[in-house]
Amino acid sequence: MNNFITNIIDNDINNGLSINNIKFRFPPEPNGFLHLGHIKSLYINFTLAKFYNSKIYLRFEDTNPNNINIKYINQIIKNIKWLGFKYTKITYISNYFNLLYKWAKLLIIKQKAYIQKIYNNKIYNINNIEKSLFIFKNMKIGKYKENTYILRAKINNKSTNYYLNDPIMYRIIYKKHLFTKNKWCIYPTYDWAHGQSDYIEKISHSLCSIEFQNHKPLYDWFINQIYNKKFNYIKPKQIEFSRLNLSNTITSKRQINILKNKKIINNLCDPRLCTITAFKKKGYSSKYIINFIKSIGYSKRNNNINIKLLELYIKKKIINKTPKLLVIFNPIKLTIINFPKKSIEWIYIKNHCNYPKYKIIPFTKTIYIEKNDFKYKYDKNFLRLSFNNYVRLKYSYIIKIFKIVKKNNNIKKIYCKIYKNNTIKYNKIKSTIQWVSSKYNTKINILLYNYIYFKNNKIINKNSLKSIFVYGDISINNINLYNIYQFHRIGFFYFFKINNNIFYFKKLFFLNP
Ligand code: ATP
Ligand code: MG
Repeated sequence: MNNFITNIIDNDINNGLSINNIKFRFPPEPNGFLHLGHIKSLYINFTLAKFYNSKIYLRFEDTNPNNINIKYINQIIKNIKWLGFKYTKITYISNYFNLLYKWAKLLIIKQKAYIQKIYNNKIYNINNIEKSLFIFKNMKIGKYKENTYILRAKINNKSTNYYLNDPIMYRIIYKKHLFTKNKWCIYPTYDWAHGQSDYIEKISHSLCSIEFQNHKPLYDWFINQIYNKKFNYIKPKQIEFSRLNLSNTITSKRQINILKNKKIINNLCDPRLCTITAFKKKGYSSKYIINFIKSIGYSKRNNNINIKLLELYIKKKIINKTPKLLVIFNPIKLTIINFPKKSIEWIYIKNHCNYPKYKIIPFTKTIYIEKNDFKYKYDKNFLRLSFNNYVRLKYSYIIKIFKIVKKNNNIKKIYCKIYKNNTIKYNKIKSTIQWVSSKYNTKINILLYNYIYFKNNKIINKNSLKSIFVYGDISINNINLYNIYQFHRIGFFYFFKINNNIFYFKKLFFLNP
């Protein structure tokens, strides 16, 4: 393995860092479900840990009690397990609240931090150390209201780097914390807690996505303030990699939560999202997704990936493994003049991909074909059913239109004639189309998902879910739940529910996206 990150780490090793001291972490805030962007981050971190044979922690950044939720913690643990990444242990920033508080007091004493009072929309800086310590303690034990006092680092109010403009370290929040309960009335900000947690955990290389690049001077500033060789002589190093953005959907927990709050999606497993649970519920395997991420590679520039690339990747992997079904979305009925009424011919089909091993479907006097596989007017470029065209019905007879009955210019009935195999010259058959018996078929409900964002990821596609009923061949009665199936000439669908003899599928992708 050789990339810009290993180059940095190898350089640190050459400059004296012991390989035994290399350590990584994956630091999600438990405020939502993991998504494709996290898979990239996980992949990078865990591949490095494997490469250097080093420890790697799963660290929950549970600093803001307003955002975090136990169900997200559990889900994140489950997702990482499903992906197959193995961490050394789980840690929580809330376990470091005491130490962070102690260090903050140290900064006040060193005059590297100060209290700011907010009163009647005015702010007052408190420069006296004793007074600051006194107020800080009172903030901690709940003597003041929210938004009355904050603790700020004293760096440079004029810096062009916003994050160095005396950033907030602590604010008062009255909310019971998942783990520390009501012990604290103040909570550390991300910037104050994150790097210090790296330092506490002896993380050598702190990998994060590119949006944290501007935080880096602050990250280093804080570490330099608290650095103490006796505690830990390794200063963690922040390294940024590109953030993965996927077109037509969103790779940020916060943005995903907004979609949920706006009720555009009902839950975080919605197939229109790129959360890990959404992938799982669509039947994507973890191996395929990780390999896709691998194929994108590392870089520092932003990764803007077209969602079709992911779909194409998954499709290539499953195309030869998914059984095919005959399904008609928009039916038109054909009547076969040379097939006996009330009769059924059972057709044995050795199925695509050997699963199920074979199936039997009925051919009857009336059948449905797809509306757009038929054209009334002859058109020499139209290779499907139209006057004079021989067309093969998949797995079955060759067919040709015999007569069309019209009434007030509307087509009333389409009569066709069927021909046995070998009776029509091969080169005369224009195409093969799908069909189902109009008498014996399976009722299917399809959740027809479309992309949730239009391509630029700015405008939400509010009509991105339709539920439709379609007709499937009766072999569907014997298929297995939680599998992907290919609807002949249409696309890939995931079978997720059966209820009252209705088979429920969700759309994965059409054949030619
Ligand atoms: P939020 O929107 O709440 O910030 P997030 O989706 O950015 O959530 P975090 O919990 O902030 O998720 O991120 C956890 C880790 O995953 C961080 O190290 C972050 O850099 C990385 N990460 C998050 N999103 C992406 C992404 N789209 N591409 C690459 N890495 C990401
Ligand atoms: Mg983030």
